Amino acid sequence: MDAITKEFNRLEKNGSFDKYIDDVDELIELLQKTRNTIDAEQLAILKSGCTSWTNKMAESQKDIYGALSKYAKALDKKFKTDIEAAYNPNAFPPSGDKLLDRAVAMHLIRDGQFQVADKLIQEANLDIPEALEQEFMDMYRILESLKQKDLGPAIEWAASKRDRLAQSGSNLEFNLHSLQFVHLFTYPDGTGTRLALEYARENFAVFGDRYLADISKLMCAFLFQSNLQSSPYASTFLSPSAWDDVAHSFTKEFCSLLGLSPDSPLYLAALAGAIALPTLLKVGSIMREKQTEWSSENELPVEIPLPPSFQFHAIFVCPVSKEQTTDENPPMMMPCGHIVAKDSLARMSKGNPNQRFKCPYCPNESIPNQAIRVYF
Ligand SMILES: [Zn+2]
Repeated sequence: MDAITKEFNRLEKNGSFDKYIDDVDELIELLQKTRNTIDAEQLAILKSGCTSWTNKMAESQKDIYGALSKYAKALDKKFKTDIEAAYNPNAFPPSGDKLLDRAVAMHLIRDGQFQVADKLIQEANLDIPEALEQEFMDMYRILESLKQKDLGPAIEWAASKRDRLAQSGSNLEFNLHSLQFVHLFTYPDGTGTRLALEYARENFAVFGDRYLADISKLMCAFLFQSNLQSSPYASTFLSPSAWDDVAHSFTKEFCSLLGLSPDSPLYLAALAGAIALPTLLKVGSIMREKQTEWSSENELPVEIPLPPSFQFHAIFVCPVSKEQTTDENPPMMMPCGHIVAKDSLARMSKGNPNQRFKCPYCPNESIPNQAIRVYF
């Protein structure tokens, strides 16, 4: 990677069109000067000016293209593998292109790149409600305020969604007020504690039932106001990540109320793909050697472990068949409380939904019709 970094730095240093633009400006100036009073002598000046400009332009471009070509060569040298080998065109259903366009457009909207998203929605003729884009514009407006340490818009939003946030057990609204209190309390000019107390009186009452312990803790900080740094409250009042944390939890709650995951699914899928790529390339080369093909649809030919942050749902592996359960073959719980996959249930009862069979894990007997589907 060192070679790539070196070439990238070189490209970054040389890869600017500033000099080129300066040269063009110079030429325009020269042309404008001579435009009205052109004669033979001036024409000669113009000609020599143009020649020197052309040379300078070629020179400045040479640096850029030189750096660009070296960077590309360094990349090619490092990444020799043809990643096409890991690509399975059958993995996409016929309607895949549309789904992919939609995923890209949704990613752009979530990323705040509304103009590009609009263009894609229009050109790919996608059906994404405008209201959703409006919601994300609102989210970015609020996040921008948070960056400026203005909690007002976020608090207003959280108050307007109080019931729904409470339903999902969210602490966001209180956390926003709590940060506002801390923000006032730690004003550098020393007037903050009075403002913080007033703020608490005005805003904390409504949270008394649910957050009394947290409010008490905030109030006790007044005892340590002269020496907050070495007090037990330092972590709450002087946390360097407090604003980032609250922005992150705001984004999460905002997306959750829209029924969306906190991270863009396209981003996660691309990241998971990057993690899986080396294994898939290896599988691809083994398959080529053995002249076999990746034939299974919607399923990878090998298991590829991903980090825990990529695991969003509990999975259930049937203890009888050792297969992972799916929507077609879901986990079923017998009256004794033991769970097996639906196919295993059918095998144990020989395909008869009223046939009694013994649970493979305890002495109880039941019939498949008594089993109920389990959702993880
Ligand atoms: Zn059992």
